[in-house]
Amino acid sequence: MPSIDKLVRLHKSLMTLSRGAGFIEYPRISKLKRITRACAEQLGASRVSVWKLSEDNQEIVCEVLYILETDHYFKGAELKRADFPEYFNAMSEDRIINADNAITDPRTSEFTEPYLIPNGIASMLDAPIYAAGKLHGVVCLEQVGDARVWDLAELSYVASLADSISMINEHENWLTDREQLEFLEQYDSLTGLERRNNFQKRLEFDLQGELDPDRTRVLMLLGLDFFASINDNHGNKTADSLLIALARLLEFVTQPYHCRLARVGGDLFGIWLPDLKNTEQLDLLNNKLKTITDNPIKTEDDTLVSVSFSTGVVIYPTESSGQVNPMRCAEIALQRAKSESRGNVQYFSLEWLEQLQSKRSLENELIAALDNSELVAHYQPILSTKNEKIIGLEALVRWQHPTRGLIPPGQFLPTAKKLGLMERLGSYMLKQAAGGIKRLHDKGSSIAWVSVNISSEQLYNSQLSQQIEDILNEFDLLPEALELEIVEELISQDSALVRAQLAALSELGIRLAIDDFGTGYSSLSRLKHMPVTKLKVDKSFVDGLPHSEDDCCITQSIIGLAKGLEIELVAEGVETKLQAEYLTKANCEFVQGFYYAKPMPLSDLLMIDQKS
Ligand code: C2E
Ligand code: MG
Ligand code: MG
Repeated sequence: MPSIDKLVRLHKSLMTLSRGAGFIEYPRISKLKRITRACAEQLGASRVSVWKLSEDNQEIVCEVLYILETDHYFKGAELKRADFPEYFNAMSEDRIINADNAITDPRTSEFTEPYLIPNGIASMLDAPIYAAGKLHGVVCLEQVGDARVWDLAELSYVASLADSISMINEHENWLTDREQLEFLEQYDSLTGLERRNNFQKRLEFDLQGELDPDRTRVLMLLGLDFFASINDNHGNKTADSLLIALARLLEFVTQPYHCRLARVGGDLFGIWLPDLKNTEQLDLLNNKLKTITDNPIKTEDDTLVSVSFSTGVVIYPTESSGQVNPMRCAEIALQRAKSESRGNVQYFSLEWLEQLQSKRSLENELIAALDNSELVAHYQPILSTKNEKIIGLEALVRWQHPTRGLIPPGQFLPTAKKLGLMERLGSYMLKQAAGGIKRLHDKGSSIAWVSVNISSEQLYNSQLSQQIEDILNEFDLLPEALELEIVEELISQDSALVRAQLAALSELGIRLAIDDFGTGYSSLSRLKHMPVTKLKVDKSFVDGLPHSEDDCCITQSIIGLAKGLEIELVAEGVETKLQAEYLTKANCEFVQGFYYAKPMPLSDLLMIDQKS
């Protein structure tokens, strides 16, 4: 019976060693040395060794051998399966080999001549070691001199010892996996170049350090032009191979410089020069970089691809040092470079950043403006030339900005378009206008209708006519009270959807006006077949009246056309008495312009209307 005390003592000593603070962090060889020595000392075993099985399972190599008597370590001995098949078979059975008499034990007897006798070994005790669930090696205890009967406490101890080494193996595997993972995180698997995160960390770190006043730092961002088309035209494989070829060329060109090169995005390469003597060096590098694109690049599959780079450059120290993320500055410069012409180089300027920031804040404010009812409708009168009485209104959107005052539509409609707000804005304005004309009617005004500008987004929304019908019902209005203005350009596209939409609206009894008439290219024959009730002559023709012969001629033709088609006509942008007189004489029915009245809030209009 093994002594329980012995068992506990042995296990405790092993635990103290292998779970001790910092043990797992030692290099593998130190861990193995400590373990083998502790084992030899605890059990009084003459020789304790750790062996590693080769990948092909055909040999074991001694990682460390500790000899108690001399207190020395050895390593490197090799044993081949071919020479010791019985031992290897026993080892493969994954069990402890407790050969009290190693010379007679069939599992170890084949060691007698070459190993046991020369080393004076009488007994052996081997336990299997694992890694990632597979046999990885053995821990081997050898007793020199008299044979030794290993008791159960000792067997249990050696099994635990082998487990501790297995744990070390698991830990090391985990570390290797982690390192590989970290490598993959840090380096681009396609080109082998550093990836964005690492690159960015490095340049942020460098930027915090002191810089000699006569030195400079430069960040360059190279964007491959038209990479999407290269992908489409040549396929992903060629495009990937092109990126690899480019990475090698960039490495070659930047090699003489003290710099870091990275692939910071799909078609983006970063070059960080943390310590440049002067900007001439930068010019030199730029020239060398240009040579990369002088000739088509040959990819692995022998395709020749012509490429060009646009480049954004940030030179440090800049006005923005410390304030703005350096990559962001380089991206802004690159965007500028791309927007001008491809193959261009642009140097970052803080002014661009400020413009972008104000654009961004305008975008955010505009989204909130719709929720906060900061968008308001102003109304511009449309008058009859016969009696100069207001017969209708055009509703025009304005942004009543809390700090910037009244902003005209030209300054925010493009942003609203970009943000996809045009439908919301459009239905908001339809309701405002419907509410406005309803109030005027309720006050007994003779102003009959209000016209509302309709965006392409609204026109392409199949719900538009239903929405208009709902609004008419909500405000209890007749369809004649509402007119929709559609720019000529939209009509000239002749889309089936637009035609269907216009037909549905006209069926509702809604009147349709073509805005900015004369600027688009609508065919007259098409116009004849459209349910259009009004043309609005664009201001650009009215401007030249009555002096420009061309404008007079065009205006006369449009007036003639409207009469011929029996549709109404409004001249927009009438600013002077002469223009007004000319149009009246020319029999233009309706006019709209600053000469008569500017767009105004409903409250002002109510006052004017009541006075007249
Ligand atoms: P538009 O529909 O052609 O509107 C006429 C524009 O000419 C208005 O500019 C009006 O203020 C201006 N105008 C009128 N008479 C004169 C004049 O005698 N002299 C000068 N210099 N200008 C005159 P506004 O309000 O700045 O609107 C510009 C454009 O914005 C509009 O042109 C229209 O295309 C668009 N817009 C305005 N409100 C809305 C809306 O609610 N929805 C949509 N989708 N577009 C709108
Ligand atoms: Mg209009
Ligand atoms: Mg117009």
